[in-house]
Order: sequence, then C-alpha cells, then structure tokens
Amino acid sequence: MAMKLDANERLILRLIWQRRALSRWELHELTSSTPNQVGLDAGRLVKRGLLRERIPDITGPGRPRVPLEIDPSRRYVLGLALRPGHIECARLNLLGAMLGRQIRVDIAVPDRMIPSACELVKAHVGPDCIGVGLSTPGFVDLDQRQILSSSAMAGKVPVALAPVYSASGAIPVTLENDMHALAARWLMTHEAFGKEDVVLVFIQDGELGAAVLIDGQPNRGCAVGANDLGHMRVMVRTELCHCGHYGCLERICSTAFLRNLDGNGESLLNRLASIRTLSTDPSLKKMTRYLATGLANAANFMRPNRLVLVSQFIRYPVFSDALTRFVRRRLLAGIADRIQIDLWDQPGASNGETAGWLALASLYRDGWNRMPSPPEQ
Ligand SMILES: [Zn+2]
Repeated sequence: MAMKLDANERLILRLIWQRRALSRWELHELTSSTPNQVGLDAGRLVKRGLLRERIPDITGPGRPRVPLEIDPSRRYVLGLALRPGHIECARLNLLGAMLGRQIRVDIAVPDRMIPSACELVKAHVGPDCIGVGLSTPGFVDLDQRQILSSSAMAGKVPVALAPVYSASGAIPVTLENDMHALAARWLMTHEAFGKEDVVLVFIQDGELGAAVLIDGQPNRGCAVGANDLGHMRVMVRTELCHCGHYGCLERICSTAFLRNLDGNGESLLNRLASIRTLSTDPSLKKMTRYLATGLANAANFMRPNRLVLVSQFIRYPVFSDALTRFVRRRLLAGIADRIQIDLWDQPGASNGETAGWLALASLYRDGWNRMPSPPEQ
C-alpha cells in the first residue's frame, strides 16, 4: 500500500519516534497544529497502522490523556542490500526490529543481480509493507535510478534499477549508497545529534567507506556515493585496489597489507585480539598511523561536529584508543577541540537490515527519499 505522508503527519511520527510516546495534547503543544488538526492527523496515522494508542496513564482527575506510540505490529519495511556476489534482504517493523531472519541469496553472475532483487521484492512486499530501502556500494544516480559503478556489479555498469522500482509497485523505494544506509541507521538511533554535521566512517578488513551527513541528510554531489575515503591514497606500497590504483586506505587497512609488511599471515582481527599494546606489533601500528592520517585529513577538510567510527575493530581498546589518539594529534588547531570522536560497534553495517533503515529514515525524516527531478525544459 502506497503511503503518502504530509508534512504534519511526518512531524508527528518523528516527534513520537524521538520521545517514544506522546498524547494528542502534547503533540499540539509541540507543533503549531491546533488540537483539532492534531486529532485528525493522529487519527489517520492510527487508522493506517503507523501509530497505536497505549493504555492511558491515570494521573489525576479529569479525562486521561491517551499516549500514542509507534505501532510495531502492523506495518513493516523491506531492506535490500546489493553486495558483491550476493543480496541480503530483511524485514523490519516500524521500530527497526527485524522480523524473522535475514535472507541471503547468492548471485553467481552480476547479470542475475537485478532479476534476483526483483524476485525478492515480489516475494516479500505484501499489503502491509510501506517502504523498500535499497542499498548498493559505489556510485548511484538517483535521478536516472542507475548504479554508475559498484563492486557488487563487477564492472558491468551502468545498471538500471528501474525493474526493482517496478517490482515494488506503489511502495516507495529509497535508493542510497550503502554507507548512507548505515548513516541513516546511525541517525535514527542517535536522534540527539540529528542536527549536527557528521562524518561516519565504516572500517573493516580491506573495506573502508564514509558518509557525510549535513543537517541530518546525506550530502549530494554529482552522484550519490560514499565519499570514497577508502580510495584516498597514501604513497605507500599496497596490493592493487579494485579501483585500479595502489596505496588506497582500504588496501592499507587489511590483512594483506600487514602480511606484506612482515610476512605474518594472521588476520588483522586476530592480530588486534592478541596484543596488549600497539608497540608490540609495529606493522599494526604503522597501519593505524596511516588510517589516522586519512581520517584526520577527512575531518580537517569537512570540519564535522562528530566523527563516528563504525567497526568491529573498536571492540579492542588497544586499537580504538590508539586510533583516536593518532587522529586527535593530526587534527588542526582551532577545530581539534570541537570535533567529537565517537565509536559505534554495529555489526552487519551493509546488510539488508541496515538497508531497511533507509526506508525508516524516509518515513520519519525529510530529505531521505529524493524523488527523481523532472526533466529539464
Ligand atoms: Zn582504491
């Protein structure tokens, strides 16, 4: 079922998302809407299965105020993450909890990617679904609904995504780069910082991506992408990157880079788990320094309020402490004290569940579901 929300309805949803529960009277006080208008808007949202009434708190004499909350039981969104060699698909309720398990479909050849995505959409978009979040690595053209380049498509680009939109029918599709999906998830679960400018960096073995949020929205440029921090290059010897160059930050932050330095074939994660201080592993220390240089360059360039590092590596304080310290040391005077560095351990950063948060972000916030602009006259 297509669900068009007007600005009042979206504001009500967002306020209730932020505060968990609000009565109609409280909504009236928080918005410029009259009690009558709030009553009508809230009534529609309840009827459409987005909100529900909670048992009222009886606090004193008079008519009890009935708190409204997000209804997690009736509607859902679907998340679809296109990944190199597979697709991940998940259903989420309107509070962001997964319904059932994530489904993974292996894709033998890139040509099968879009047909398989369509099959998944057709199988899982039911009458209670109100949004589809679609994520992919690489560069995306939202107007043309195309993937311009992506590690998921192995060079077979551009890729038209129109069939996925057709398969979704009237259900709105929110298409984004996968780092933007991660940023949507961060934003929705860290509402308190929703007005800040944020650089969010995802780091794992051989993969590094970033998203920039300006005023709670992903930044747009000539194409939607992950501010490819992973391909920021350092003049150091690495393996050849899939982008065609050497020295990329995501090649440096990898098991292969460490092995090339000292011949130790242990994985990056195991090496992090086995040390007590970074000085006992000079290769790891070197890698951390390069990484810190890249992150600090990005932060100095963007001067965000907050630099959020998302990685399973930050479970190891020996690494996260050193990385944070190295980054801080490289920030420019004048802004160093203003940039907050946060660590966020979020597994499955680019999976179907995270793609589902795109649909939630576009339900609760403005600016996340950009419709294609009309052709120029
Ligand atoms: Zn590269």
